[in-house]
Parts: sequence; structure tokens; C-alpha cells
Amino acid sequence: MENFAYLIGDEASQTCAIIDPAFDPRKILATAQTSGYTITHVINTHGHSDHTSGNAAIIEATNALLCIHRADADQVTRLLNRTISRILGGKGSPSPSRLLEDNDIITIGKTQLQVLHTPGHTPGSICIYADGNIFTGDTLFVGAVGRTDLPGGSMQQLLKSVHEKIYTLPGGAIVWPGHDYGESPSSTVSFEKQTNPFT
Ligand SMILES: [Zn+2]
Ligand SMILES: [Zn+2]
Repeated sequence: MENFAYLIGDEASQTCAIIDPAFDPRKILATAQTSGYTITHVINTHGHSDHTSGNAAIIEATNALLCIHRADADQVTRLLNRTISRILGGKGSPSPSRLLEDNDIITIGKTQLQVLHTPGHTPGSICIYADGNIFTGDTLFVGAVGRTDLPGGSMQQLLKSVHEKIYTLPGGAIVWPGHDYGESPSSTVSFEKQTNPFT
């Protein structure tokens, strides 16, 4: 279940966002600190515990704002999420500070992160697009897609999201998935378009 967590930094302000803190939040905090960056935002690509169980530790240490799509917001504070988060070595999440919608912009210093609502894996799944990089959570993996057999999942919706929101981005955009399920840890939009057997 171990996931990828991503720090996106704004050089001018030395502030950064963390996408999907779950496992080993101390390592995430240390990485930001060593680089001289302050974490101002925690962004969850969706409400599953393996992407949110580190929210509490990061927010307690930094007071960062928690951002998640409106449709997955309830999930992070539910009993099931709290229970699984504990099993994963984390804690239940604080409540979100900001509820996201499609096309919202999250501003980190002078860097703008665009929110793309990509339902399918969960109703409130999002991808984050910034400067030729797309962070795809559990919507699109290298050579695969997220599962849709969990509550709220829909393969039809997921494929629509991938085709309409991700495959319409510039082909050279780098795909940074939520898990290391492929042959390489990252890919590009054009490579997935040409080779991903699920899409
Ligand atoms: Zn998930
Ligand atoms: Zn996941």
C-alpha cells in the first residue's frame, strides 16, 4: 500500500505543498526542512487512508492548510479512515480547511497548482497539474489505472476522466502516479496514451 508523496516547492518564497502524506511523515518533514522549505498546504488526491494517514502529523508540525475535493472531504474524518490510518501507523485526519472544485487554483508562493477533478477511483479524486507535471493519485498509474471496485468507484467515470482531463494535456507532461505499480516510477502523457492497456 505504500504510496508516493510529492513535495512541490516554490523557489521564490521557499514554501511548498505536500501531496498525499501517508507513510513516514517525519521523513517528509525532514526533507522539506533540509531543503529550507516550509510546508503551507497538504493536498490529498482523494480520501483513502493510504494517501491521508500522515495529514495529522504534517499539520500538527506545520499548521498547513488541508485541501481535498468536496466529494471526498467526509471520507478523511470517518471512522473507517481513522481506523485504517492507525493500522498504517498514522492517525485520523484533521478536517479540511479548503474544499476543492474542478479547475480551482492552489497558490504556493508564486506557483499555481491547477486542480483537475477526475472522478472514477473515488467520487472526489483529483489530479494536480503544474508546469508540465501531472500528479495523478490513484486515477492513472504507469501502465495501469486505479481500482474502481471500492465504494463510489466507477470504471466508466475513471476512463472518461483520464481521456478528457489527462490525455488532453501536453504529451510531454510528466505523469507522477500515487503508487509505484509500473515499470518506472513516472511516465509521460503521450507514453501512457500510446501504451497503457487499460485506457
Ligand atoms: Zn485510493
Ligand atoms: Zn492508493
